Amino acid sequence: MLVKVDLHNHSCLSPCGSDDLTPALLAVEAMEQGIGILALSDHNSARNLPAFKQACELCSVMAMFGVEVTTVEEVHVLTLFEKLEDAMQFGTFIEFLLPPIKNDPRLFGNQLVVNLEGEIVETVDKLLISTSGISFSDVVEEALSRDALVIPAHIDRSANSVLTNLGFLPDLPYSALEAIRIPVRAETYNKTILTASDAHRLEEVGCRSCYLELEEISFEALKAGLSRGLVTYKA
Ligand SMILES: [Zn+2]
Ligand SMILES: [Zn+2]
Repeated sequence: MLVKVDLHNHSCLSPCGSDDLTPALLAVEAMEQGIGILALSDHNSARNLPAFKQACELCSVMAMFGVEVTTVEEVHVLTLFEKLEDAMQFGTFIEFLLPPIKNDPRLFGNQLVVNLEGEIVETVDKLLISTSGISFSDVVEEALSRDALVIPAHIDRSANSVLTNLGFLPDLPYSALEAIRIPVRAETYNKTILTASDAHRLEEVGCRSCYLELEEISFEALKAGLSRGLVTYKA
């Protein structure tokens, strides 16, 4: 079956994400667009994933629990977990590694933890868009050892991408790659290349979803589908 997937999105927890983009609104918008598998991947934190799980269950959308990690080289890497608890543990680990720099909401925006209803539960003080201090290869290895899917983010972007910041893509066992434009003019070792919305505002949800040929909607089927690489991009 052809499944519409979108494995890179933010919420109001990311300082650069709109305060209006709650996990519940993300899930509802994805459902309305026919997205079958949806990830929330805020910068260096997993704190909005519990509300995201509840919302996806209500919307009958399969949730992938993500963290977009900033490496010491300032490369963004998507780490996507099947289980909420595993993502929460990894998110706590990454947040702990961030330097003790306070967020200035006037400069960077708010960092809001919300519940299913979108009510503010907590405001995160530590700036979440700093570097976590661990290297690109260590993030890949650590997340894979925790059974996450590991996908270098927007590899063809001119900032915070592996191709720009490292100058090349190291040959590591990624689950897939994410790019903004297809084809990518670089050595990508025949890895599956996805597009994803990287939505920071509600109107961006679904703007770069793609379709994957999967046996069914499940984590194992997604993993298998990513290794087979049958991707259809949006026109
Ligand atoms: Zn990014
Ligand atoms: Zn992002």
